[in-house]
Amino acid sequence: MRIEYDRDTCIGMFQCVAEWEGFERDEDAGKAVLVDGEEREDDTVVREIPPEAELDAKFAARVCPVDAIAVYDDGEQVIP
Ligand code: SF4
Repeated sequence: MRIEYDRDTCIGMFQCVAEWEGFERDEDAGKAVLVDGEEREDDTVVREIPPEAELDAKFAARVCPVDAIAVYDDGEQVIP
């Protein structure tokens, strides 16, 4: 599974941080940080989700109030 985080869309509510340690707070920027993510030109950040973290990562994506986090399984978007 792959997670994709849209930094532009993020409004820094940090619910995702409470659900999965793959997200951390950047208080100064008011944005979440996807740890070990690979930054793309369009300001999205992507990484693979370790199998043992899939449940937590999916919760992180579900709780985001602005749908800044998407989860893909085999290339197919499963959340949101
Ligand atoms: S829950 Fe969404 S809006 Fe809030 S910090 Fe995480 S990505 Fe940003």
